[in-house]
Amino acid sequence: MPLTPYLIPCRHPAIPGQVLLFAARTGALILLSEEDFAALQSGQAAEEEVASLTDMGFLVADAATEQRQVMHYMDDINRLNPNLTIALVLGMECNFACRYCFEGSQKGGQAMDDATADQLVSFIKQRFGPNKKKLQLQIYGGEPLLYRKRLISLARQLKPFVEARGGELTIDLVTNGSLLTEQVVEELNPWGLDGVKVTLDGLPDNHNHFRPFKSGQGSFAVIVRNLANVCGMTKIRLGGNYTNETYTQFGPLLDLLAGHGLTPDKIELVNFNIVLKVNDKLTANEYQGGCATINEPWLQEASLSVREEVYRRGYNVPELGPQPCAVEVDDAFTVHYDGSLYKCVTWVGHRQFKIGDIWQGVDEKYRETHHVFHWRKEEKCRECAYLPLCFGGCRFMAFQRDGHMARVDCRKPFLDATLQAMLLQDVRYRHGYEF
Ligand code: SF4
Ligand code: SF4
Repeated sequence: MPLTPYLIPCRHPAIPGQVLLFAARTGALILLSEEDFAALQSGQAAEEEVASLTDMGFLVADAATEQRQVMHYMDDINRLNPNLTIALVLGMECNFACRYCFEGSQKGGQAMDDATADQLVSFIKQRFGPNKKKLQLQIYGGEPLLYRKRLISLARQLKPFVEARGGELTIDLVTNGSLLTEQVVEELNPWGLDGVKVTLDGLPDNHNHFRPFKSGQGSFAVIVRNLANVCGMTKIRLGGNYTNETYTQFGPLLDLLAGHGLTPDKIELVNFNIVLKVNDKLTANEYQGGCATINEPWLQEASLSVREEVYRRGYNVPELGPQPCAVEVDDAFTVHYDGSLYKCVTWVGHRQFKIGDIWQGVDEKYRETHHVFHWRKEEKCRECAYLPLCFGGCRFMAFQRDGHMARVDCRKPFLDATLQAMLLQDVRYRHGYEF
């Protein structure tokens, strides 16, 4: 049997005479001697190993079938997806004045009104078909905790509906953390709160510079105090935005947090990301759920170094694996406070990328404007071993670069420079293999 075309072999002085193999479609990792790898390459796997190597996705019936399956991976996801995922911007009010805020001039007092909220409930009920098992609400702002009443009122109508169908409602908050008190978490837990994502931008001085309260006062101490108080009551996902100048602060930041009781067992996930400079403006990608990246050379070193510092201290980092863009997931939408629909929260405010509204529904023309499955037409993607990790990259990044999303956001240079080192980090820290 042949090897999968989505195989990433990794050699490193730390593992002399051995090859680390990564099957990008399944995410499986295996460490083999050079001799065993050579035998696999020539189609001579030991008979007793064929079944497990096939299960793990290293050996395939034939390369063409495997490629066809990956080309249609998103069709399978969309056919079988048990989740309806709604990113929800409840209003634009915020008590912070972050320097790179993606909402920028859109910020203000606008918020979802009663009529829109009622229609949103109908829209969601309509979309939550019999095959759905989970309604995932991802709540953004502004600052979403300023809209608690609205959130609870929506959950009060949706939770019984979803549960009557044998499903589950989960709520994830993307909050600045300043209002995240024990009382607030206690109030939201019964409605399905499944965790919070909070951003800290490095050590206190840097964070306070980038993420001050509107008054200009620093927010670091308030956030850390709140996180320390609620970390036993809900899952904490920690985000952070770094630049070329600040990425070295993120290891010491974790030491500082551990000193406040925010040890690895209290933080579900740490996902620090780059702040981009676009047209001389800083743009944080905290709203992208960590799915974006770019190819600037300094970032390769920075992202590996930050990942190492997080792992080394025992915190959890996002797993390497398929990261489909929401643009290609049929049952994933962003709903703005005014009821307009987008495919991803990064497009909110770019009216030309609106894909409909909760009254009229989705205008399927978005498949053309958003260039859905553009990577299927790219010869270089069809031949690329990284395809199951990339699927053409991030539409938002492509838009930032080109002003449109017709071309793929190719991650090959970034993955060429970093993936092998990331896999070695996984082997050491996630799988506990010492070398
Ligand atoms: S456009 Fe797609 S990949 Fe980019 S941030 Fe949005 S969902 Fe993620
Ligand atoms: S965009 Fe680049 S990295 Fe991604 S699949 Fe295509 S060729 Fe590979």
